Amino acid sequence: MCVEIRKAVSVQEINNAVLNIFGKFVHVLPTSKDARILLKPNLNANMNALTGNTTDLRLIAAVLRFLKDTGYRNITIGEGTNSGYYRNDINVISRLKVDRLAHYFGVSIFDLNQDHSRFITFENGIRAGVAESCFETDCFINLPKIKTHFEIGMSVCLKNLMGCLVGQENKKKTHQDLAKNIINLNQQIQPHLHIIDGLIAMEGLGPTRGVPLNLGLVLGGTDPYLLDMVCARLAGFDYRDVRTLSVAESRGLIGPAHIHFLKNLDMDGLVRHFKKPKAHFPASFIHSPKRQKYFLAIRNTALFSWLASTQFFGHLLFLSGLRQDNFIQKEMMVNRLTFHADRCVPGCCKCSDYCPLGLKVPSALVGKNPDCIECLYCFLVCPERAIGFDGDLGFMSEQLRQYDNITRKITE
Ligand code: SF4
Ligand code: SF4
Repeated sequence: MCVEIRKAVSVQEINNAVLNIFGKFVHVLPTSKDARILLKPNLNANMNALTGNTTDLRLIAAVLRFLKDTGYRNITIGEGTNSGYYRNDINVISRLKVDRLAHYFGVSIFDLNQDHSRFITFENGIRAGVAESCFETDCFINLPKIKTHFEIGMSVCLKNLMGCLVGQENKKKTHQDLAKNIINLNQQIQPHLHIIDGLIAMEGLGPTRGVPLNLGLVLGGTDPYLLDMVCARLAGFDYRDVRTLSVAESRGLIGPAHIHFLKNLDMDGLVRHFKKPKAHFPASFIHSPKRQKYFLAIRNTALFSWLASTQFFGHLLFLSGLRQDNFIQKEMMVNRLTFHADRCVPGCCKCSDYCPLGLKVPSALVGKNPDCIECLYCFLVCPERAIGFDGDLGFMSEQLRQYDNITRKITE
């Protein structure tokens, strides 16, 4: 059993952490440079990685950089974004600038919600479709985020595979008995490697309404149960309180060797005590395992689905806490990012540390560097607000409303 845990904050440190992880698990990489490699980040919502919600572009870039430098030619980033965005026709992959990152590295992007389905069996004999590409690939690399999850406790390697389900119709079939279904899915799809984004994690009311926490870690390994147990401990949780892990243990997927490994793993100075993902009433009332099936029966009716798709009722659901995401239709339009030299602190380098492409920021902004993918990470972390935004923030204004101050504070 083996888990690599690397401290990393800047782009350079993230690149080194990823190099180290591939060095340790080099045996999982295919020998043919034409082998199909699928990267599965967590891009479930349009909130960028600095909120703690989605996989950091710096981690995806580091993995792509390594794979391209090693000579792999057939790389795809695949994700089936969460049902609400899919239903509202919002392109999360594009909003998070993953398409532009993929273009920069010359790799493909694939929306798993549009893939052919392979039907597998979930709880109570329910059959739901999983993206065929997840089975067909030669090397599957899971790139989850560490975040709390109010229904199952934590979302890391195991939960991230739920994005492999095709479309809303299949995702919603598996929502009841969620923890058991996550394990069912993991018994069918087994990624070759997991590289975990523990850079900016999420605590509190995750997966979408929690608070970002600067953990500064990248983890790697091949055993998702062990990795999720390690992440639970990093968060200061008993792994048995994470519902997926408790189901896994009851099915014999976690055994004495896992527990022994965890007990003896030196995590001195790494453990943080995450705020627990406690949902407010009425979400906690409805999502209790005893009552959830009744709520899901109502939610899956045509009338409720129609109501939920209206802006007014959808916003009410968001305000009540019954819905975690706020589906804003308006796109962001960036004319340019501006640089106010008078506010910049010489020697700071924060913006460069957070640029996924490793551009020399802020100078890259002067004259609009063509390689810039407009991810806004530099804009979001600058402690002096020396980087400005010219354009229409669109959906991004909601992220700024919730997270602007906290993002700048935790990245100080
Ligand atoms: S983060 Fe802001 S203050 Fe720091 S170097 Fe960049 S522009 Fe200057
Ligand atoms: S310069 Fe800023 S906006 Fe452009 S890619 Fe780098 S961090 Fe993103």
